[in-house]
Amino acid sequence: MLKATSFREYDIRGIADREFLDPDVVDLGRAVGTYLQRHSGRNLTLGRDTRLSSARLAQALAEGLRASGCDVTDLGVVPTPLLYYSVFHLQATGAVMITGSHNPPEYNGFKVVSGTSTIHGAQIQQLREIIEAGDYATGAGAFGAADVVTPYVEEVSAQFRWDRRIKVAADAGNGCAGPVMHGLLERLNCEPIELFFDMDGTFPNHHPDPTLPECLKALIAAVTSGGAELGVAFDGDGDRLGAIDDKGNILWGDQLLLIFGREILTRKPGATFIGEVKCSQVMYDELKRLGGNPIMYRTGHSLIKAKMKEVHAELAGEMSGHLFFADRYYGYDDALYAACRLMEIVANSGRPLSAQLEGVPVMLSTPEIRVDCPDEVKFEVVRRVAEHFRHRYDVVDIDGVRVLFPQGWGLVRASNTQPVLVLRFEAASAEALAQYRQEVEAVLARAQSG
Ligand SMILES: [Zn+2]
Repeated sequence: MLKATSFREYDIRGIADREFLDPDVVDLGRAVGTYLQRHSGRNLTLGRDTRLSSARLAQALAEGLRASGCDVTDLGVVPTPLLYYSVFHLQATGAVMITGSHNPPEYNGFKVVSGTSTIHGAQIQQLREIIEAGDYATGAGAFGAADVVTPYVEEVSAQFRWDRRIKVAADAGNGCAGPVMHGLLERLNCEPIELFFDMDGTFPNHHPDPTLPECLKALIAAVTSGGAELGVAFDGDGDRLGAIDDKGNILWGDQLLLIFGREILTRKPGATFIGEVKCSQVMYDELKRLGGNPIMYRTGHSLIKAKMKEVHAELAGEMSGHLFFADRYYGYDDALYAACRLMEIVANSGRPLSAQLEGVPVMLSTPEIRVDCPDEVKFEVVRRVAEHFRHRYDVVDIDGVRVLFPQGWGLVRASNTQPVLVLRFEAASAEALAQYRQEVEAVLARAQSG
């Protein structure tokens, strides 16, 4: 039976050859098929990434899905956003993606879509409960295949018509974004430099994670030596975007949100945006100053997608590069689509990416600081830190605690996926940054020692 710890906050994940044996994956397929029939329907699509174990897992999972009575349409190897697209394009009632995302090659995982929402938290635990109880629906579902890449490339590329030919570098990290992005770049008014567009599940060039600066070195070199106006990078399954400006600087998720949000506000005054607690105050302040309605919300792509529907947000994003466009699009996180939107802004503005944030106040910030903390106590530690600061400063406690200091903020947040606390700080000066960090770390040390 699958380990209980494989059922995580946003997916079912493990080391494929050790933790996902065929009979267990068949059972998982039966559980997913049972769950989806009870919540949304029996017409499913199935996609997988380019990892070496993905084909085997797809076959075993399809067997289980069909045994529960679901009809399965196989999409083959596709980026995760094309799985989401298939739900709309093929009017499916649910979908499953087999992907290890940005994790090391030996890992793999399952993301489950019910209706148009990705299941998470307690919903994922229900799959485990179905397996433990042997509470399966039974039937004999059909099996077929469909090409979603062709309609996707046609539909997305048809949306973009800019007059100026721009030079762009793109790094797919040998993940599954490469071939689809190539199809888009061919149809757009650009001169592309394509890095690592061949799919290779051993990831021979670098780890496909655009949030790690060491994974962006080749792209930075290609942008600066090739004279590109921007560079874009994709994670292993194409749902997270990294971006490099023409001077070789990395743009983070909150900076991208601000660039995209500004453009949306020129067409949709008063638009609503969602960011997470790790995002810069500058982003929230700027979007508000421009007449927008920015909302600070919890980290986690399933949570953000649900919140977007609730408040009718046009755009949402995370520091990690998940960017969700409801404006002109379907509302899911699609890094290939986001890359096209970024190219469009650069092309239409007539200015390279480094010029897009001119005039925006510059704050100093730390990267994410990770502090080990056991799963059993991490939420209690954060609660103690919040209690301490609540009496001294304004705090935002929607997700961990963000302490609002006079010239900046500090965050302490428990990771949903690992036994760590994540800290981040931002301030107007180096002195304030050091002071806030010191103050929070001292309180944290006391909270951890009990
Ligand atoms: Zn991903």
